[in-house]
Amino acid sequence: MAESVPQAPQAVLSTLDRAGNRKWIYPTLSKGRFWLARKAIGWLLIVVFVALPWIEIGNRPAVFLDVAGREFTFFGLTLHSTDMVILMVFLLTAVLAIFFITALFGRLWCGWGCPQTVYLEFVYRPIERLVEGSETRRRRRDNGPWNFDKIWRKSTKLAIYTAISVFLAHTFVAYFAGWENLLYWMGRSPMESPGYFALMAITSGLVLFDFGYFREQMCTLTCPYARLQSVLMDDDSLIVSYDRSRGENRGTYRERKQSDKVLDLDDGSVTFGDCIDCGCCVRTCPTGIDIRDGLQMECVSCTQCVDACDEVMEAIGKPRGLIRYTSENAISGDKTKVARPRIFLYAALLAICSTILVGLVVTRAPLEVDFSRASGTTYRVTADDQVANRFSLRLRNRTADTTKLTLVPVDPEGLRVRLVGDQSPSLVPGELERMDVWLTIDTDQMPPGGTTATVDILLDDTAVDTVNLRLLGPTNSR
Ligand code: SF4
Ligand code: SF4
Repeated sequence: MAESVPQAPQAVLSTLDRAGNRKWIYPTLSKGRFWLARKAIGWLLIVVFVALPWIEIGNRPAVFLDVAGREFTFFGLTLHSTDMVILMVFLLTAVLAIFFITALFGRLWCGWGCPQTVYLEFVYRPIERLVEGSETRRRRRDNGPWNFDKIWRKSTKLAIYTAISVFLAHTFVAYFAGWENLLYWMGRSPMESPGYFALMAITSGLVLFDFGYFREQMCTLTCPYARLQSVLMDDDSLIVSYDRSRGENRGTYRERKQSDKVLDLDDGSVTFGDCIDCGCCVRTCPTGIDIRDGLQMECVSCTQCVDACDEVMEAIGKPRGLIRYTSENAISGDKTKVARPRIFLYAALLAICSTILVGLVVTRAPLEVDFSRASGTTYRVTADDQVANRFSLRLRNRTADTTKLTLVPVDPEGLRVRLVGDQSPSLVPGELERMDVWLTIDTDQMPPGGTTATVDILLDDTAVDTVNLRLLGPTNSR
């Protein structure tokens, strides 16, 4: 049987006309099994996205990306600028995880987990359908004149969209500013915090623009991950695909009755595939493509076409899955190979980086210490005949609890340690503390020219670090 030649992919993006103007997409909703699963996962993710900056783990937000303070908190672990190695390994592990998942599952993230998809499909579009009606009505109204019906519906939608966008903008900013700052700013007048109001106005405007207008253009034109995927995926990656061998020759009922579309059998009869060319898979696609043209960059694996086609197949008494999750190789009749070199490579690198990351986190010292000689000083001999050296101490409590700091002299004998101010100060989690420390020793116990002093650092009476410091003294102290 000779297959009909698939249509050539469009020369321009599905959402643009040949002049480069935006073509507005009115995707119909296909409520199949994948849509139900995506909706459940989508709402779960919305709750997680909104809750993460608000719930606290160890007195810190679960996720807090304080770029200005160079402090990044992930589920109880706070990393500072001095934890650059851990941050780099963390980022590398995240990138490798993306490589690994994409090579195996293709654009699963885009269709099921990306906030762009989740908020658009499960928050903004349902509101649009509620206020403005079905796709057919919306299209007709949009192409029609501005009358009362159009004005009130558009204004109502805009008002609801704006309220939701302001809320989402606050949620987004909370990841970077922290909810305490956010609440503080919200409780003040715009005149007192003009910067905050400008930030929120711009962020809200961007969110509204994205979900109200830009929509699928974010995935097809802007998103770097979409571009990256073409090199991360191969013929064995999971994709949403049309089974051409089963679907072609496509033909509508009328064409099937007329039977003169394609004569490809010896007896002159026509062989049709399962695709009845109803166009449901195209009308439901949020990026406006025809999956029957083959794998396209615009496809976000949202499975709406799968649900639409499954419904059609059930209605005409054919098995589901003409459009389904599969791989290029499986569609071509070969076996999908899960175990392949790039998967092994990504998995091995991911395992190595994850192990290093866990090792770095587990062995990370609970205290960040920087002991240095006070700037511009050497030593001085006090009136009671002691040699005194002044040091600057910078430390940060990396634990989640406030702890007491104690410095204990270890060596040489007779060494005394005195913190300027409180001798056992409290260290607040995450705060960078600066203090001055005097190390003194009787002149007759100081070797000529100086010696090395050893000091133990205790947090809540537990030794967490030992430092060696060079003590300077007179060359003729004995
Ligand atoms: S929904 Fe299925 S039957 Fe209808 S055009 Fe698409 S692939 Fe063909
Ligand atoms: S082709 Fe199908 S899976 Fe891909 S974006 Fe369109 S509807 Fe979603």
